[in-house]
Amino acid sequence: MADDCIFCGIVAGEVPAEKVAEDENTIAFMDLNPWTRGHALVIPRRHTRNLYEIDDEELKHTAVAARRLARRMRDRLGADGVNVLNAAEPAAWQTVFHFHLHVIPRYRDDPLELPTQPGEASQDELSAVAEELRG
Ligand code: 5GP
Ligand code: ZN
Repeated sequence: MADDCIFCGIVAGEVPAEKVAEDENTIAFMDLNPWTRGHALVIPRRHTRNLYEIDDEELKHTAVAARRLARRMRDRLGADGVNVLNAAEPAAWQTVFHFHLHVIPRYRDDPLELPTQPGEASQDELSAVAEELRG
């Protein structure tokens, strides 16, 4: 547990949260500021900063728990789809530094717009960046 981590506080039961599921390794609870009805967060019980640092097993447990919850959102809330989102580091909008997956149920008529537009890149640009990433 990390001092001053709000999600560790939730794991410890010291910070109130609207929990919806838990198992040996993970906890799922409602996001305080939901983007859609049912927006929840799934976290590993063990503190880890973000995607760069989480170990493989913890990541797997958290991803599997997120899928379980996504299916429940489909079946119980009537969600038509789901976005699973993760932010790592402030440049990518991370504000709470305990790894978490956002599980955001989507509805055909929901008003959520992710603040992005499809990009454009030339074949040369695609090839250049692909080369930097290969190997
Ligand atoms: P991030 O920007 O780090 O990906 O997302 C952090 C999320 O945690 C935000 O969507 C925010 O609404 C949520 N959040 C922050 N503090 C609390 C809290 O104390 N309780 C709950 N349930 N959600 C929180
Ligand atoms: Zn923590």
